[in-house]
Amino acid sequence: MQATGSNPETVRFEQTREADRPVGRSIKRGLLNQCPACGSGKLFGRFLKTVQACSSCDEQLDKHSADDFPPYIVVTIMGHIVLGGFMATEMILPMSNWGHLAIWVPMTIIGSLAMMQPVKGGVVGLQWALKMHGFGGHDDEPADALPVPDRAA
Ligand SMILES: [Zn+2]
Repeated sequence: MQATGSNPETVRFEQTREADRPVGRSIKRGLLNQCPACGSGKLFGRFLKTVQACSSCDEQLDKHSADDFPPYIVVTIMGHIVLGGFMATEMILPMSNWGHLAIWVPMTIIGSLAMMQPVKGGVVGLQWALKMHGFGGHDDEPADALPVPDRAA
């Protein structure tokens, strides 16, 4: 939890918020294509498109801003799997470059596609748990926005 000061009201609010939306449970539900709030509705309507609202609890689920984070996670995981597999295979059973391409390129594509939706669901669950972006009940505006200059002067 982030230290927000010694105000007891603030501390109590932070504890309530954390208890309301446990991070681990929310990520797990997202990984399983479940609504992070109730766990019974579906999170995705299409492959990587979240539903607008949960069919079970009406929680707004299209307010996430996962952006490029899920692909970064998938690339990191698949990179370790494929590179480790390639190196282990090369040590045990040396084969031609074409043989490696025939194994590791399809495995990379299939593994990445298989992993993308669960990882994005986990990211959406994390954002929901932390009330990031639109999940906190406020617009997603930068806190350090510069004031608009007065053009008339
Ligand atoms: Zn729900």
